[in-house]
Amino acid sequence: MEDTARRAGRVNLLGLDEAALRRWLEADGERPFRARQLLGWIHRRGVDDFACMTDLSKALRARLAETACVAAPRVLGTAVSADGTRKWLLGLDDPAGGPGNVVEMVFIPEPNRGTLCVSSQVGCSLDCAFCATARQGFNRNLTSAEIVGQLWLARRLLAEAGLEPGAITNVVLMGMGEPLLNLREVLPALNLMVSDHAYGLSKRRVTVSTAGVVPMIDRLREHSEVSLAVSLHAPDDALRDELVPINRRFPLAELMAACRRYVAGRARRRVTFEYVMLDGVNDRPEHARALGRLLRGLPCKLNLIPFNPFPGSGYRCSSAHAIERFAETLRARGHVVTVRKTRGQDIDAACGQLAGRVQDRSARHLRFAAPRYGERRPEAGAKAPL
Ligand code: SAH
Repeated sequence: MEDTARRAGRVNLLGLDEAALRRWLEADGERPFRARQLLGWIHRRGVDDFACMTDLSKALRARLAETACVAAPRVLGTAVSADGTRKWLLGLDDPAGGPGNVVEMVFIPEPNRGTLCVSSQVGCSLDCAFCATARQGFNRNLTSAEIVGQLWLARRLLAEAGLEPGAITNVVLMGMGEPLLNLREVLPALNLMVSDHAYGLSKRRVTVSTAGVVPMIDRLREHSEVSLAVSLHAPDDALRDELVPINRRFPLAELMAACRRYVAGRARRRVTFEYVMLDGVNDRPEHARALGRLLRGLPCKLNLIPFNPFPGSGYRCSSAHAIERFAETLRARGHVVTVRKTRGQDIDAACGQLAGRVQDRSARHLRFAAPRYGERRPEAGAKAPL
């Protein structure tokens, strides 16, 4: 549908936040309050057919049908885990025609909340050593319509599966891609997620996760109040340079300073640090102690993620004992530590397992190239620049 729409030059209203929608309507001679009406129909009620928007005049409905559309990604496949986690493969339209890209979206139900994990890019350019998405290379940024369209679509799909409309209480931008390298498209999507006129999610329950694009952490703070998660994975620059190569560009001291700025002056806000547990690599007691020093005085919580293996990753997950010992070392120093329960592993929906299908368009891969542990993908290609 979107493809047809694009060819016909129609605007996809799904990706316009309230300010953008108001501007678009005003340019067309419409009254600004129409923006909220449209947001209500599109996002709260999940309606994509303008003919059904009965409190708009017939003339406006007809004009919208000609000039606009509400088009979300297409579902290409669904997998449901034994633990209730669901993963969807989503097809995106490729503006140039040809085979479309595929991204993944995951819903994780828990007793008191339901978390939707959405993608922000087709593939990823950051090349973290232990992540399956990195192996896919990078193709392009998702549009704001494709980002918020995942939430729009998931609500519809969960309703079809008989779940409550409010089943999604949390959204995390922890799917494929680096959201802070696509802030221009991510911001309107975040605005819609937290707007009372659209999805009305709590700002604390919408989380942007970054591998550490320092200048963009500040930009995010200027424009949004959502929660910040940082994929840390190592307590010192030498190890982090290898595991998360963007650290070579923005080392830990700069990253930590940006995290402090992010929560400064915001009451009861904490940064979440993600730390993937890699056997023999970053899970020893001295790593825990160094991490404790690094995080001292910063309002934060630490989320330890058992490494989810994938073919050819070259890493193993730390033992349960090592993870517990690591957590205890930090708790003893007063840090808040949780261990992420692995969900959806039987359907490859766990952290770092999202792969989709990416038409890799990266140039040669050098920018963040670093010596690394374990086996790497065979082709020595370079990643797209920042
Ligand atoms: N680019 C952003 C968003 C992706 S979030 C970021 O790096 O934060 C995905 C999370 O899963 C990140 O914390 C990532 O480091 C982690 N992850 C990646 N591969 C993993 C794996 N194989 N096992 C467990 N966690 C992994």
